[in-house]
Amino acid sequence: MRTTDHAAAVVVGGSLAGLMAALGLAKFGIAVTVLERSGPQPRGGAALGGAESNLHRLVGPDGLAGPEATAAALNGSRPHLQSWAQAHGLLRRAAAADPHIDLVHGARVVEAGQDETSAWARTADGAIHRGDLVVGADGHRSVVRRVVAPERPDAAFAGYVIWLGIAEEPELDVEAWPPGMDIFDAGADCLLGYPLAESAPPGRRRLGWAWFDRRRNDLLRATGCVDGDVVQHSLRPADLPASLIAELDAEAAQWPAAWRDAVRACLRRRGVTGTPVAEYVPDRLVRGRIALVGDAAHVSTPMTGRGFGVALTDAEVLADEVAKAVAEARDDAIPAALRSYQDRSLGRARELVESGQRFSRSFAG
Ligand SMILES: Cc1cc2nc3c(=O)[nH]c(=O)nc-3n(C[C@H](O)[C@H](O)[C@H](O)COP(=O)(O)OP(=O)(O)OC[C@H]3O[C@@H](n4cnc5c(N)ncnc54)[C@H](O)[C@@H]3O)c2cc1C
Repeated sequence: MRTTDHAAAVVVGGSLAGLMAALGLAKFGIAVTVLERSGPQPRGGAALGGAESNLHRLVGPDGLAGPEATAAALNGSRPHLQSWAQAHGLLRRAAAADPHIDLVHGARVVEAGQDETSAWARTADGAIHRGDLVVGADGHRSVVRRVVAPERPDAAFAGYVIWLGIAEEPELDVEAWPPGMDIFDAGADCLLGYPLAESAPPGRRRLGWAWFDRRRNDLLRATGCVDGDVVQHSLRPADLPASLIAELDAEAAQWPAAWRDAVRACLRRRGVTGTPVAEYVPDRLVRGRIALVGDAAHVSTPMTGRGFGVALTDAEVLADEVAKAVAEARDDAIPAALRSYQDRSLGRARELVESGQRFSRSFAG
């Protein structure tokens, strides 16, 4: 067992959950290697409700910098993180500034494993990254979950897709700007709309929307987005069939004016992604020296609006338990710490997914 000074963790996945876990562990002096399969370019993403609140604990009082902090300072308000890209940008900057974190891009993990004294992740180029523990933060199709829960490694398709877009104010002709989140239930469809970047001045505001649609499952299967019971990938904007765009444009007539216009503006410039919804109720979160956090651990419908917040709590609880373990410097301390993480987190993870499943069953039938 190593001491705090050179305890090491390998985190698989450098999205929100992976970066939060890395920052949480690094706070206690643990050296963290984050292996992220995608490149370093900033990534887009949907609106993220409730993201603004507790990140300060991880990134510290000086951690909030960049466009969102500047905009907030100009308005005399606290920064609001309301999109996935904002939250990811903030975490990336904090991780890059942390000397304990080594963020490696273009590193696709193909296998994870462990022995008595260490755990490891192997990347596609054959390199083995070894640490006192491996944290799987590799999302809903987690490779690391295959080691933790080999008896049930896949999240299941929930029976519907979410069309997502963010419309910019200049492309809209909205008379009354929506003051807050709206939900519209139209039977086979449900629309969730929310204004983003409340601190942005009029003219530069944005409307995020998520359209839940249970009628496009044949298309999802025909395009390989869903195979059997398993979600394989999203339908990217470039792959949206022209016929689908025309259909959605016509069906958008059912939504109230501001949201209808926001949907149509995104469709016009193909700024729409289709995300088939997956769900996973975990029976376990750890095995030996390997732990899961975020969507690798539990996948819930975005209707819960809590996936991000629970991933943050996962990261904090995991870091807390591991920090106590490295201080003890006993051989079995890391596996024991991960079991404590599971004891503290499994109930919350299951409750999150099950609450979403109640919605999914009533919506998708
Ligand atoms: C459409 C949608 C809307 C949502 N809206 C909200 C919301 O409003 N509020 C909220 O709280 N939550 C929301 N969520 C959920 C929330 O985004 C996630 O729960 C949260 O961000 C945690 O994500 P993650 O980092 O665990 O997984 P992901 O974001 O999926 O990240 C996984 C990372 O691992 C990398 N990776 C995958 N496989 C490998 C591999 N083999 N090797 C190396 N790297 C790998 C991927 O490239 C990616 O960077 C939403 C989810 C979706 C899909």
